Amino acid sequence: MTDWIKRRERKNEVAARAAEPSLRFHTCRVVGCGKRSRAATQDGLDTFFCRSHADHHSRHGSPYKRSYTAKEIAPHRKRARAWLEANQDDMWVTNAVQRVQTLYANAGPHVEAFRLNGLSPQERSKAAWARLRKANIDPRQVIAACIAVELTVQADPQPDSKSEFRRVQMAKQMHKLASGTHKQWPSTAGGPKELHVYPRSRGQVLRHLGVDLEKCIELLISHATW
Ligand SMILES: [Zn+2]
Repeated sequence: MTDWIKRRERKNEVAARAAEPSLRFHTCRVVGCGKRSRAATQDGLDTFFCRSHADHHSRHGSPYKRSYTAKEIAPHRKRARAWLEANQDDMWVTNAVQRVQTLYANAGPHVEAFRLNGLSPQERSKAAWARLRKANIDPRQVIAACIAVELTVQADPQPDSKSEFRRVQMAKQMHKLASGTHKQWPSTAGGPKELHVYPRSRGQVLRHLGVDLEKCIELLISHATW
């Protein structure tokens, strides 16, 4: 065999092995599911869940518990806002506000929502902070959203108590504070007149944002009495 044939065969063998599904027979970790687990999801989350539970995990921060609805969070957000109002001179509130402002300042240039494709989760999370900065979102709104999630979890009789669920829920609330990119053009024949692009609210970016948000409020949460 000539060298180049050997090299080609070796290359084919490596490619074939990489394409093999992982044959470790794990089953999904969700109790009662029983389906085969996947090694990893497309958005890079290592997982021990089947496809549908992995997808749920990516979107909601929990393989089985869905995200809280706006209606479920609303009363807690009201309470969070009232508490922040009453405690605006509290040193831990000041600390949390400063941390959000630092994230705004370090977020780099604003990136339009339709230019996010191809960016890493870290870059997307910075873009999310830049979006809030550009939209002039008061840091206290970010903090209120995080406290609201904390209070919602505390009041939930069946919470997912893992920090990942909390983090993802906080990130989803943050995402909602600054909506996507919206553009309008004067009416043209047949062409698009409006463009609305919202960043995807799932995957690793939510975990990165969640860690940022958790750091903003951790001291506040540990010192506060509601
Ligand atoms: Zn499953």
